[in-house]
Amino acid sequence: MSTLVRILRHTFRFPLQSSLSLLMAVACTVLVLVLPGITMQFIDVVIAKKRPDLIFPTAAIGIGAILVRQALFTLRTYFNNSLELKLTHLIRVELYDKLQRLPVKWFDSNSSGEIMSRVADDVPATNRVIIEGVDQAIAALLQFIIVLGYMFWHSWQLTLVTLIPLPFIAVLTTWWSRRSEPMWRESSEATSALNAILHDNLSGIRQIKAYTVEPQALESFDKASRKVGEKHMTVMRGQSLVWPGVSFIAESGIILMVAFGAWFALQGKIQPGVVVSFLVAWGFLFDPISRINTLSQTFTRGAVSAKRVFKIIDTPDEPNLTDGERPTQMRGHVRFENVCFSYSDEAPTIDGLSLEAKPGETIALVGATGAGKSTVLNLLTRFYEPTSGRILVDGVPLDGLSKEWLRDQLGYVTQESFLFNTTLRENLLFAKHDATDEEIWAALEAANAAYFIRASPDGLGTIAGERGSRFSGGEKQRLSIARALLKNPPLLLLDEATSALDNRTERLVQEALENLRSDRTCFVIAHRLSTVQKADRICVLHHGKLIEQGTHAELLALGGSYAKLCEATFANEPRPAA
Ligand code: ADP
Repeated sequence: MSTLVRILRHTFRFPLQSSLSLLMAVACTVLVLVLPGITMQFIDVVIAKKRPDLIFPTAAIGIGAILVRQALFTLRTYFNNSLELKLTHLIRVELYDKLQRLPVKWFDSNSSGEIMSRVADDVPATNRVIIEGVDQAIAALLQFIIVLGYMFWHSWQLTLVTLIPLPFIAVLTTWWSRRSEPMWRESSEATSALNAILHDNLSGIRQIKAYTVEPQALESFDKASRKVGEKHMTVMRGQSLVWPGVSFIAESGIILMVAFGAWFALQGKIQPGVVVSFLVAWGFLFDPISRINTLSQTFTRGAVSAKRVFKIIDTPDEPNLTDGERPTQMRGHVRFENVCFSYSDEAPTIDGLSLEAKPGETIALVGATGAGKSTVLNLLTRFYEPTSGRILVDGVPLDGLSKEWLRDQLGYVTQESFLFNTTLRENLLFAKHDATDEEIWAALEAANAAYFIRASPDGLGTIAGERGSRFSGGEKQRLSIARALLKNPPLLLLDEATSALDNRTERLVQEALENLRSDRTCFVIAHRLSTVQKADRICVLHHGKLIEQGTHAELLALGGSYAKLCEATFANEPRPAA
């Protein structure tokens, strides 16, 4: 109920549209009495009192009223659709805005496919509740009351007979509505799971093809799709029993009504025209009840969807996103003090890490896969928060700083250099929204990316393709470097590409990185000998612990883990001239 109230509250944002919608619904409803009224007039006045002169005016009034009703119906459809579109837009944008303010951790446990289901399917389903609520439920209730009043006016005895099926129908539909809610929920959860698989498989289509696991992928899709069908069928099985049952009770009521009507007419209690008029009015009285089927489906589904939408909207924002200190300048002095962190309750991913980067220094993070190098960068960006210990930037603890400010000061170049499926210019403007074309080209030059953009006929207008598929790995990395250069941040976080680039590209990327690193504090996850050699300090991580730190030469002389790692990792790399 509270969900329903909450949904309806949204309509108050559009008072004009919702009142017009309601007004049209009422007007259309009142005019349903035209047909039974005119019918009764023909039988009891025109025929019974032999008044052929009234045939034409009565028919003309009837047709005129029906015309007005249909015209109002057109307006009602227009206002309803316009309200629905506005509401969908409102809730969709509210939901998206919330999604952007949720912590990265939330996205670890909610797949993109599921989230897309929330936005694409649940938002419209939520709004159907409002639209059907205003357009159908209120109008249906009103129609029921008006027709009932009309019937009581002409014969209260026959009206009572007409109402006999009603309590049975009410009990049956209420029971079914309660019973079907969990079924609808399971059905829509199955749809979300299917969407999640589809989204995952399409994103990973290259991997699926490369590993020729199409049959397995198809099987998991087939299983999920089958489940959607099965869950939907469970609801439909129930519906197929309940609704014919409702119709049976309702239609038996007609026979009962006509039988009693005939009896009352024979006794002279009512005119025959009243019985015929009741027969016509019966359709309008039970029409709202027959609509309960679709209405209750829409309501139950909508309530399930709305609960999920509101669950996201009610999730607390990422803390400290906008509030917190915003120093005028960042010098780039970073200190980790005994930082511990774990993604779950299991073993710590980062275990008592203490390290320092003075302004302008380059810190290379090395270690086996899974040692925790990316996690160190994730903590610096505050995508995740340490479980204990603290990180300071220019002497200020990170948790006192606004995350927006902090991220504004960071350049983050990841291995998976992400490009949005839009023009290169827009991709680069992400870093600096007011950058001129000259600045963009200067950044591209410094990132060794200008020459291949110039070669492209559309230049900066080239569309990057989904996830930047139009460009090679080395090109994407240099574009991502250009983006960071354009931003010109005091603190740089770099994840070097592990994939082997050809010698020329490798050299171009390295040069670009050199240009990027100059004069700023830089944390780099190093996979190249040249990077570690140039770093001011190398930090060797092992299972989240800092086990060695020093310069390349110092650590080699130490002959410990780094020396072994160096041997294993960089053995095949050409050593740059000293
Ligand atoms: P590295 O960068 O050194 O390869 P990571 O920092 O990526 O290592 O990962 C460290 C550990 O944390 C790994 O065991 C990895 O499986 C785990 N991990 C990384 N990201 C997440 C995450 N989002 N949720 C849970 N565990 C994660």
